[in-house]
Amino acid sequence: MLIDRLKDEFRSAEAAIDGGPIYPEASVAEIRELLARYDFRRAVPLEQAAADVEQMLRRWQVQVTHPRYFGLFNPSVRLASVVADALAATYNPQLAAWRTSPAAIEIERHTLAWLADKFGLPDETAASFTGGGAEANLSAVVAALTQAFPNFDEKGLRGLPNAPVFYISAEAHHSFSKIAHMTGLGRDALRTIPASIDLKMNVSALAAKVAQDRQRGFAPFLVVGTAGTTAAGAIDPLPELARFCREEKLWFHVDAAWGGAAIVSPALRAHLSGIEHADSITCDAHKWFSVAMGCGMFFCRRPETVARAFRAEASYMPEKADAETCDPYTHSVQWSRRFAGLKLFLTLAELGEEGQAKAIEHQARLGNRLRERLAASNWTIVNQTPLPLVCFTREGLDVSSFLAGLREGQIAWMSEAGVAGASVVRACITSFKTTEEDIDQVVRQITRLAEEQRTGRLAAAEA
Ligand SMILES: *Cc1c(COP(=O)(O)O)cnc(C)c1O
Repeated sequence: MLIDRLKDEFRSAEAAIDGGPIYPEASVAEIRELLARYDFRRAVPLEQAAADVEQMLRRWQVQVTHPRYFGLFNPSVRLASVVADALAATYNPQLAAWRTSPAAIEIERHTLAWLADKFGLPDETAASFTGGGAEANLSAVVAALTQAFPNFDEKGLRGLPNAPVFYISAEAHHSFSKIAHMTGLGRDALRTIPASIDLKMNVSALAAKVAQDRQRGFAPFLVVGTAGTTAAGAIDPLPELARFCREEKLWFHVDAAWGGAAIVSPALRAHLSGIEHADSITCDAHKWFSVAMGCGMFFCRRPETVARAFRAEASYMPEKADAETCDPYTHSVQWSRRFAGLKLFLTLAELGEEGQAKAIEHQARLGNRLRERLAASNWTIVNQTPLPLVCFTREGLDVSSFLAGLREGQIAWMSEAGVAGASVVRACITSFKTTEEDIDQVVRQITRLAEEQRTGRLAAAEA
């Protein structure tokens, strides 16, 4: 079986990554010089080419699966993902049509139904795996347009008497401005509502803007609430947004690309309360479910709208599935469809629901520990969230020199974020392999680093 061969290889690669550097020393010239050997005129044995690529990946990338990568939601992965991707490539199932790949499609459907139920969505919910959160958000906007404007499917935006507009918070993901562009709505159709001091969407400001837009002849159709913002992990007030959308007859989409995984944890799920009222939800398995990229998901409680939005007929496709089975290519953006959902299926099968919840809670606990240790070492925490994402600063901190110091010392990977107009350091626990000792050691090291940099600057100023 494939798995027996992969297991040892994966373990040894994992050990090498965990014990090695986090940041690469890479120059574009060096990389291109190596690639120049591959002019494709001469055939190279697969063993050699694959070994070259593995060396390149070891040397020339940020090791996002390192336990001290505190970054942008890129998780450590399990053997289950590696086995799943190898199986998917080996059997290469085509998930466009049910009749071609009934096993693969039913595995995906089974997995999605489990998560839809966790979110509190109804049994008839339509769901599909996507390339990622951006594609899921795009699916949501297309479905919402299809639902709100009955002529949109045939006549497009030009057939509408009023210009459609939709609403996100200032902290929402930037995929929505691309989506506004791609759907032909135009980037101006995106209304950015200010966030309150706690970085959550301000619902009164939303209400005022919707009223103003209606008065001016625009056609509001969609509100996006974010459950776990990318910069600071804020969760918008979902119950209030749900109520507002119901009253105003607006589509309510929840972008829970990262934070959605908290729904499987009995300890954390209350923070997502209100998500069960969403018309549609984005959740990425390739973020906090610790599944390899790309494994996004789109859920929609209105299957008839999804069927209308993505309907397609082609004479060359296999005989149509019946209502019970249904073909993914007529219910989603993609046509040819890779077996991406297997990664989540095998991960859940191996860990069980409780094991998955424990992994998520472990990371949430480490987030709390990071907050505590930082506060105890005179750092200021500038965001509030139950999720393991900490934004922090310190008196006199120069964020870019600080990040350069992290890199130089290979201490940990962190990034810069703008929170309430200030530039701060952002650290997110994205690995189930991170330990309490990692946290304590990193806080000791970064505190020393910041102090040394400050003393150095003061001395330079005096000299
Ligand atoms: C990551 C993220 C996205 C985009 O998802 P991709 O999987 O990168 O396409 C969208 N929304 C939020 C809140 C995210 O964190």
